[in-house]
Amino acid sequence: MLDSLGRTIDYARISVTDRCNLRCVYCLGEQGDPGPAGGSLDFDDILRLARVLAGLGVVKFKVTGGEPTLRGDLAEIVRALKATPGVANVTLTTNGLLLDGQAQDLALAGLDAVNVSLDSLDPHAYRRLSGADALGRALAGLAAAREAGIPSIKVNCVPLAQTTPGDLLALAGLAREHETHVRFIELMPIGPGALLPPPRGNDAILRLLEASLGPMAPSGRALGNGPASYFSVRGFKGRIGFISALGSCFCALCNRVRITSDGFLKTCLHMDGGIPLPLSDEGLLRSAILEAVRRKPERHLFGTGPGCADGRTMARIGG
Ligand code: SAM
Repeated sequence: MLDSLGRTIDYARISVTDRCNLRCVYCLGEQGDPGPAGGSLDFDDILRLARVLAGLGVVKFKVTGGEPTLRGDLAEIVRALKATPGVANVTLTTNGLLLDGQAQDLALAGLDAVNVSLDSLDPHAYRRLSGADALGRALAGLAAAREAGIPSIKVNCVPLAQTTPGDLLALAGLAREHETHVRFIELMPIGPGALLPPPRGNDAILRLLEASLGPMAPSGRALGNGPASYFSVRGFKGRIGFISALGSCFCALCNRVRITSDGFLKTCLHMDGGIPLPLSDEGLLRSAILEAVRRKPERHLFGTGPGCADGRTMARIGG
């Protein structure tokens, strides 16, 4: 489907639950309140929604949260999304803590790619950032994803002001031995993330990495569904990516909508725009989605203007 600016919308992110087993300081924060109750989508509603979205031209789905692996039916969701006519690609974003026990089932269900969120390889820093002494479990999850043969694996890091050059280099190093792509995502001023001191920008991170790893060559090839710019590093099997929503606005190429765990269609991560979805009726869903997409905002105003007033946490939105 096309929005009023002629952008093709072929990618949907679904936050299947807003519950999470971590309390990342920039996401749910220490208090960890995802919002009032009602934060998980029903299995049948997810599939009905996927059928309608696929009928409108959505070919790629990202399952997100909260923490999607907290759902007992995650592999069934992936399998059913993959079996939906028109769907080409189903991917997952997770903190990896429960992936060790689920990666095999997810691979068998047809999962095309997984993003593992990992903000430090230092156990103390990981605990400070995430609220849990769980780095080992996250790394075990990453290893399990590789062993299960999930075709594409990425690591996502949101650098903060306290992230050290050593943290950044260690994370980038995950791309050395394996074809695991490591991406640095700019902190967005949403929820507790809006209250944190500004971190190093992605340009500075690129320079810092180059100073140790040598010249990094821009790689023209896109990977996956998103707006990351990728760089190759000599001797590395994976690539290093940067997602710079604030530093370089990529809204002109926006191809996505988000479905929140409370059943709202968000047409922009930052701006107001969207509609509560009539999840139980395919006909109503179709017209609601088309109408909301027609009114999709042109761009975010991070850093320059007022954003979305709906107050949803990133866990409910799905990132
Ligand atoms: N629990 C899963 C995970 O850890 O990937 C999925 C949900 S999480 C909300 C999805 C992504 O959003 C994660 O990569 C997380 O780092 C990112 N995220 C959350 N809050 C953010 C913020 N304020 N700015 C930038 N990225 C954020």
